[in-house]
Amino acid sequence: MTNLKNIDQKVNGSEYVLRISTPYCNLKCDYCRKEIFDIKSIDNNELIDIIRTSVECGIKKVRWTGGEPTITPNYVDLVKKTREIGIEKQMLSTNGTILYRIAEELKDAGINRVNISLDTLNKSNFLKITGKNMLHKVLQSLDVAVNLFELVKINRVLEKSNLDETIQLIELAEKYQTKKMPLVIRFIELVKGGFEGDIKYVNGNYCAGEEVIRIVKDKYGNLSETKIEGDNPMCYYYKINSNGVVLGIVPNFSVNFQCGGKKCKKLRVNPVGFISNCSIYQEFGHNLKGTTYKEKLEVMKHLIIEKQERGEEIFKRLKHHQSDYQFWRFGKPTGNE
Ligand code: SAM
Repeated sequence: MTNLKNIDQKVNGSEYVLRISTPYCNLKCDYCRKEIFDIKSIDNNELIDIIRTSVECGIKKVRWTGGEPTITPNYVDLVKKTREIGIEKQMLSTNGTILYRIAEELKDAGINRVNISLDTLNKSNFLKITGKNMLHKVLQSLDVAVNLFELVKINRVLEKSNLDETIQLIELAEKYQTKKMPLVIRFIELVKGGFEGDIKYVNGNYCAGEEVIRIVKDKYGNLSETKIEGDNPMCYYYKINSNGVVLGIVPNFSVNFQCGGKKCKKLRVNPVGFISNCSIYQEFGHNLKGTTYKEKLEVMKHLIIEKQERGEEIFKRLKHHQSDYQFWRFGKPTGNE
């Protein structure tokens, strides 16, 4: 590990979220994953040590993503342990194929908010996109989740092929309006997934977030800008005035992959224990696998201070180039391992 200067000053990372990618996924979505890498992921004990260092630095929130967190061995225990060592809020991004079975356990263990991926409501499109016939399980998870968690959002990767399902999805959210916690829908603009052929994939399937707004306005009339506390700063939320449904657009492409700058609160850990204070760039990061607790703590402090002190100038230069996604999500081997 790079030798870092000892940091004696007190570190206050309370504004940050530790974003953890688990290594495996049970789906093979068109836009996300094309191969499985032979990696040696960090085990749950080492991951807990990393989380513990973040707690020592004041971090209170963890986001589980991946890969698919719910297929991680002993995942419920991992969530429970994470709460026991001092993390106060845990958010889960999931494909929803398993969630319905363990949602209650996860809630009891410490998960507060859930994002569920739902790219289509059409059974055969679901099979085409994900490679699995599991739409009914995702819908079941959604139904269970809205009755349990503090907030549930649907993540839909926007593509030409699902644009005409926009109203159907808004109607689904309308159906849940009466529940304790309404369902929020986020439309995420398609980006390159970092695999061979991704440019061709994006060029053939990309659709701008504006298209969703146009369709929704045509059907429901005016929207008002709104906010969701603690959310991705690059997601823009709107409330449909006539029915109260909230939708968000993550306009990756339309804003040229702009960096969130000071508004970005992410520190990111990948499946092989690489950590960075930028959600995409590796050059700010360090490999923690096999390091001592003291070394992990030193890196954590260093990353937090460096992120806090980073000037606005550097953000203007940063663009989220997406070729690193396979590294962040699945631990694809690179020179940094
Ligand atoms: N398996 C979990 C899930 O489904 O949420 C967590 C990991 S998944 C990579 C996180 C989110 O990234 C999902 O909503 C997924 O649809 C989105 N995503 C993956 N590849 C993408 C791409 N090429 N463009 C836009 N969004 C993408």
